[in-house]
Amino acid sequence: DEVYDMLVIGAGPTGLACAIEAKRAGFKAVLIDKGCLCNSLFHYPAHMTFFTTPELLEIGDIPFSSPNQKPNRMEALEYYRKVAEHYALDVRQYETVVSVAGSDGDFIIHTTDRFERRTKHRARKLVIATGYYDLPNYLNIAGEELSKVRHYYHEPHPFFGLDVVVIGGKNSAAIAALDLWRHGAKVTLVHRGPVMHAHVKYWILPDINNRVKNGEITAYFNSSVIEVREDDLTIVTPEGPVTIPNHFVFALTGYHPDFSFIERLGVKLDADNDRCPVCDPATLESNVPGIYLAGVIVAGERTNEIFIENGRFHGKQIADDLKVKLGSPSPA
Ligand code: FAD
Repeated sequence: DEVYDMLVIGAGPTGLACAIEAKRAGFKAVLIDKGCLCNSLFHYPAHMTFFTTPELLEIGDIPFSSPNQKPNRMEALEYYRKVAEHYALDVRQYETVVSVAGSDGDFIIHTTDRFERRTKHRARKLVIATGYYDLPNYLNIAGEELSKVRHYYHEPHPFFGLDVVVIGGKNSAAIAALDLWRHGAKVTLVHRGPVMHAHVKYWILPDINNRVKNGEITAYFNSSVIEVREDDLTIVTPEGPVTIPNHFVFALTGYHPDFSFIERLGVKLDADNDRCPVCDPATLESNVPGIYLAGVIVAGERTNEIFIENGRFHGKQIADDLKVKLGSPSPA
């Protein structure tokens, strides 16, 4: 079996940055992703625009040029494909890491592919860069399992002329509600807070607030959906329950890291610190020797604290520690 110096679980922007920095330091790195390259970004709304200017999304010192002040999803996917190509990264797509055995210096990583075939990889060091976008925060209400209830928003066309409820009060909900309304859906927004959340970007907030003020999007604040049925749903408002005829529901109430996966690898979560995985802030090595954390998962439940723009530097921190711990890189 080939033994890699470093195996990275997750080929998102952070995972790519980790592999690049390890490779630049002379180490042999491999990336494993359950989906495609940058699987989370691929599943973002099709026409989304990043909140960040292009240079803040750069990894591996490769310039990200865009004619737009803020790049869109397509440009970002193209950029990360080019970077992966430039550095000839070894990326295994559509392979899910299911378990890890062994210990520092000799980890055995078990994966399954799309056809449930099992594979083993061996690596001296392991990086967990699994992000937070695979697990939605479920509402746990009756009817949530109906196929009309979605936890990811892609594009507006299939909802033309239909009654769509968007649940949530942050950026994802605001962006989806506006996009759906602009493409002919009849949108009702339901948010448990009294107004849109303070985290909604300053250029999106007036847009959504004005649509609500004009009655173009109907909004219920201080309200929660309690039951979804095939043809309608019920919400509880300060004035009492309201039943709304309804074709589709977008429950955009956030996502969370796969904490049980992290714990299964032996990494402890700090219960007093929003379940941040226990790790050395300088090296990002966890309480399990040889297992590192990178990207948004470093902040535990605070998924809005680390983004691409700051998580991309984790690769350098880890590569620096690899140099100390592994000594001279394996010959190329
Ligand atoms: P991810 O990009 O989520 O990558 C994790 C990868 O791990 C995924 O590809 C996943 O398939 C894989 N994976 C998970 N579990 C396993 C497993 N068991 N085995 C194998 N592979 C696995 N950030 C910014 O900086 N600027 C922005 O403008 C911005 N806009 C955003 C807009 C939206 C709509 C959203 C939802 C987020 C946005 N973010 C933005 C946040 C940013 O996308 C995330 O912080 C970033 O993707 C985190 O990178 P990551 O590499 O840590 O994780």
